[in-house]
Amino acid sequence: MDRHEAMDSMGTAAATGTDTAQLPGWDEAKGEYVLPALPYAYNALEPAIDEQTMKLHHDLHHAGYVMGLNKALSGMEAARNTGDYATVKALSRELSFHGSGHLLHCLFWKNMAPAGNGGGGKPGGDLARALGRSFGSVEAFQSQFAAAAGAVEGSGWAILAWEPVGKNLVILQAEKHQNLTMWGVTPLLVLDVWEHAYYLKYQNRRPEYIKAFWNVINWADVGRRLQACMSSYR
Ligand code: MN
Repeated sequence: MDRHEAMDSMGTAAATGTDTAQLPGWDEAKGEYVLPALPYAYNALEPAIDEQTMKLHHDLHHAGYVMGLNKALSGMEAARNTGDYATVKALSRELSFHGSGHLLHCLFWKNMAPAGNGGGGKPGGDLARALGRSFGSVEAFQSQFAAAAGAVEGSGWAILAWEPVGKNLVILQAEKHQNLTMWGVTPLLVLDVWEHAYYLKYQNRRPEYIKAFWNVINWADVGRRLQACMSSYR
């Protein structure tokens, strides 16, 4: 059973035996993020990626993100408990940095497999068709993806992503994945706080606008988006 199918109507998650396989970066029993084991041996991606790099990358770098993510979340819990949100800006930044790091690495390890044993070759099915529709061909996708990856300034990622409005695939660069996003999440509820969204009526009184927002929020829409995510593949 999927972890989310185990949720009751109150949104309480019950641990099941397959949770770890479904969401290896989260420990349901501990209620915290954990470093998932690699889905293959450290040396399984040789010679493309060497064993020592995989050890350092997974055991030190990825583990650091997991620690920082849990720390940011417990800091937020403390803030909620005391009602003191003085550090919410810094904590949100920490959440973005470590949360993006954790989610992207969980995805990265699963995006690879040993050459000839699930790794390499060519895509097929819907994926091949979608790549063709968005980029012209699989080869054209690969050349743009490689160019984008090569041109990322400093630390970063190349990312193939699903864009849900046009139902297109897009290639993005993430320079500094901490820039106030948490890559890998799906937005469920957004509030536009650009001045154009409220200035005519509220001028500089943004808190009044935020308070009024709760009178027009469409909870059913947010709930439908949550349902769609809960049934999606990880
Ligand atoms: Mn990394």
